[in-house]
Amino acid sequence: MVKNIAVIRGDGIGPEIVEQALNVLNKVAELYGHTFQYTDVDMGGCAIDKYGDPLPEAELQKCVNSDSVLLGAVGGEKWNDVPGHMRPEKGLLRLRAGMGVYSNNRPAKIWKQLSDATPLKKSIVDQGNDIIIVRELIGGIYFGEHKTEGDIAIDVLKYSESEIERIGRIGFETARKRNKKLCSVEKSNVLDSSRLWKKVMHHLAEEYPDVELSDMLVDNCAMQIVKNPAQFDVVVTENMFGDILSDEASMITGSIGMIPSSSLGSTTCGLYEPIHGSAPDIAGKDVANPIGTILSAAMMLRFSFDMSKEADAIENAVSAYLDADYRTADIMSEGKRLVGCRKCGELIISNLRKE
Ligand code: NAD
Repeated sequence: MVKNIAVIRGDGIGPEIVEQALNVLNKVAELYGHTFQYTDVDMGGCAIDKYGDPLPEAELQKCVNSDSVLLGAVGGEKWNDVPGHMRPEKGLLRLRAGMGVYSNNRPAKIWKQLSDATPLKKSIVDQGNDIIIVRELIGGIYFGEHKTEGDIAIDVLKYSESEIERIGRIGFETARKRNKKLCSVEKSNVLDSSRLWKKVMHHLAEEYPDVELSDMLVDNCAMQIVKNPAQFDVVVTENMFGDILSDEASMITGSIGMIPSSSLGSTTCGLYEPIHGSAPDIAGKDVANPIGTILSAAMMLRFSFDMSKEADAIENAVSAYLDADYRTADIMSEGKRLVGCRKCGELIISNLRKE
């Protein structure tokens, strides 16, 4: 199969981690007889330096016209003082909106090999933890009007029924394929948008009688994720709550560097990226963990290219790498073998087998 992949290396550790994911994809192509063609796309700080724009329209079009997009991360201190509409992260928001990817899917699962890397007590970890956070991605406060008038700053949080319904369906469908438990997270004791969210979710629940729907306030959810993560199967929530909760959930897995994500809309052209940022503190040092990006590439194969065997092969190779006790610095613990970003990629590739 021939697939065209738009590749955004971005800033900070972006280029290092993406390089490893591409090496893995190339090995998969060799093993399974596929051709992956890559188109480089400039986005983020590097695009501001080159074009004075975090995502020029021509770069966005390369993504829209691809079969899917693999992204490292964008941003960094160098661009902190540029005006808001020009910030690297604006490129990311424009990319998500331009691709129409309204549903972000972030799995937070404890790898059994990393049970000693999580900050949670063993008794909590042993109960098991395998959560998927389905986050609305192109609405809510990040996409509302932002303005500052004198000493007052305003950010508008707005959701329509149809925006809630389409992400709600993804939540129910995802739960239906798993343990059939969906927790809808909002702040309906305070926000109108959350009261609408809750109403739409309960309306949808009538179409999914096999899925058990529960409601939880976002502040309680933040607490429950560390107190009793095993209670969750699928969590569905709006953009900002999902952003925060998925970072929190990532930590119970050991490191933010381990978590992939997929973002999809109404076509199979998806956006695949690790959930972390550009980690400027470790950029260029060959210490970043590339697994979140490598697993994002696996999600691309599974969800956009219908290549589940190939995706399984990547996930099994990551598991075999962890079984052999190799660790990057972020998940290092006593008695394990410390490796850098490049070596981690090479070792995962050496474990890749045709399933
Ligand atoms: P961050 O996720 O970049 O880093 C948080 C911490 O996690 C840092 O200590 C970092 O070293 C560590 N970390 C992150 N990824 C890692 C990896 N793969 N391996 C090992 N350690 C890793 O968050 P931040 O420091 O708040 O943000 C840095 C920059 O990234 C900012 O400019 C921010 O706006 C941007 N950002 C971009 C994205 C994106 O591109 N999707 C997402 C979040 C933040």
